[in-house]
This record gives sequence, C-alpha cells and structure tokens, in this order.
Amino acid sequence: GPVLTFNDVKFHYDADREILKGISFEVPAGKTIAVVGPSGAGKSTISRLIYRFYDVIEGSVEIDGQDVRDVTQKSLRAAVGMVPQDTVLFNDSIEYNIRYGRPDATENEVREAAQLAQIADFIEGLPDGYNTQVGERGLKLSGGEKQRVAIARTILKSPPILILDEATSALDTQTEQEIQSALDAVSQGRTTLVIAHRLSTVVNADEIIVLRDGKIAERGNHENLLAQD
Ligand code: ADP
Ligand code: ADP
Repeated sequence: GPVLTFNDVKFHYDADREILKGISFEVPAGKTIAVVGPSGAGKSTISRLIYRFYDVIEGSVEIDGQDVRDVTQKSLRAAVGMVPQDTVLFNDSIEYNIRYGRPDATENEVREAAQLAQIADFIEGLPDGYNTQVGERGLKLSGGEKQRVAIARTILKSPPILILDEATSALDTQTEQEIQSALDAVSQGRTTLVIAHRLSTVVNADEIIVLRDGKIAERGNHENLLAQD
C-alpha cells in the first residue's frame, strides 16, 4: 500500500488564527495511525487537507512521496476513501448506496462487502429495493445502519488509503462496538488514518498522535499514552 506523509504542515482558515502549527507524521504502508485530541484541535482539518477540500499553507501532504497538489482529483479520489462522521446516503436502495463508486461490482462482491460491514443479514431481511430514507414500512435506517452501509461502500471501493473520521462518534455503545469491529476489518492491512475523540476507540492503532493546540503534543501506542495520563 501507499505511504501517507505530512511534512511540517501549517494551515489556517482565517489568517489571525493558526489551526495547524507545523505537523509532521507518516502513515506507513498498511499501518493504522490515529489522531486524537479535544474538539477543535484540528483533527478533521487534517482529513480535509488530504482530500484537498483545502490546501496546506506551508509544508506538504504526500502520497508515496508525491505532493497531493500534483495529483489529479480523479486519482486522489481513487486512492483515498473516507468514512465520514455523519453519513449521508442517497435516497435510493441500500444496494445502490453500496454500489456508489463501483456500479460495475458483481453481486458476490456486493455481498462480501455487506458481510464485512456486518449488514448482510439485515439487508436480507428487507424487501428488495428498500429505500434508505423511508422504507416500504415507513422506517428509516438508524444512524448505525447508515454507517454500516457507508462502510460496505468503502469496502467495495477498496481504496488504498482509508480515512475514518470519528466514524463511530454518533452511535450508542452497543452499535459502536459492532461498527468498530467492522472498521477494524476494513482497515486491516490498509494504510489507514483514524481520527478520534477518545483514546479508547483506537486501542489497535500502530501509533497514536495526540493533537493539542495545533501541535503534536504526544505520540506513542495506547499503553504508553494511558500510562502518561
Ligand atoms: P476537530 O476535528 O479537532 O474538532 P476541526 O479540524 O474541525 O477540529 O477544526 C479546527 C478549528 O478550526 C476549530 O476551531 C474550528 O472551529 C475551525 N474551523 C473549522 N472549519 C472552519 C472553517 N471552514 N472556517 C473557519 N474556521 C474553521
Ligand atoms: P468519491 O470519493 O467516492 O469519488 P465523492 O467525492 O463524490 O465520492 O464523495 C465522497 C463520499 O461522499 C462518497 O464516497 C460518498 O460516500 C459520499 N457522497 C457524496 N455525495 C453524496 C450524496 N449526495 N449522498 C450520499 N452520499 C454522498
């Protein structure tokens, strides 16, 4: 898999308020690195810079040594997949939503993705073409169900780099645990950046970076960081 690198990245939205004050880290091929920190620390900004919703002010973001500013939007989107914190689905069937991004996928591939996302049994219990917003029985998908549809979509797309941005933050504890294990399955062996609020959700990360006040305040594995708390 590819390597994702942040080189001394500086960023602000408004010139009078620096958000990232020189951030450097690397996500090695196939590894999972987590960024944690208080709300407002700049965590989501990091994912926006990778996707180029915004560009860095100083420094660079690189994929396999290539500056993302030199990569076309098309190849950037093929290389990087994101499971966002608030999943918005198309008002269409679950299958349509899973296939979005890979309409050519075979039935088998769709089923495997649904199984990994732990939503296959659920889908099979629904009528064909069940709509994600208002179903035939007038039911909407819950937040956790929507999230699993988004995970299945990402699994099917199989991006070389995966960004999980507070992917379980909106869920109750039981659902969060189910989704967490689905996410662990997707990130296995993939170059993954996890953005999280709490240390407890990133136990398995190869390295955890603590972002505070626009700087990397601490870095280490889960045990080191717990010991310092
Ligand atoms: P986190 O994900 O750690 O909660 P963000 O990266 O979303 O933090 O935001 C970092 C800071 O930047 C916050 O103080 C937020 O209010 C501010 N911010 C985010 N987006 C914008 C924007 N588009 N314009 C101005 N300020 C923003
Ligand atoms: P991609 O990165 O797959 O090329 P986009 O950049 O269009 O796709 O959007 C990023 C992600 O946001 C998509 O993978 C998809 O999950 C989701 N998305 C975008 N637009 C919508 C929408 N209108 N309804 C539901 N999901 C959407």
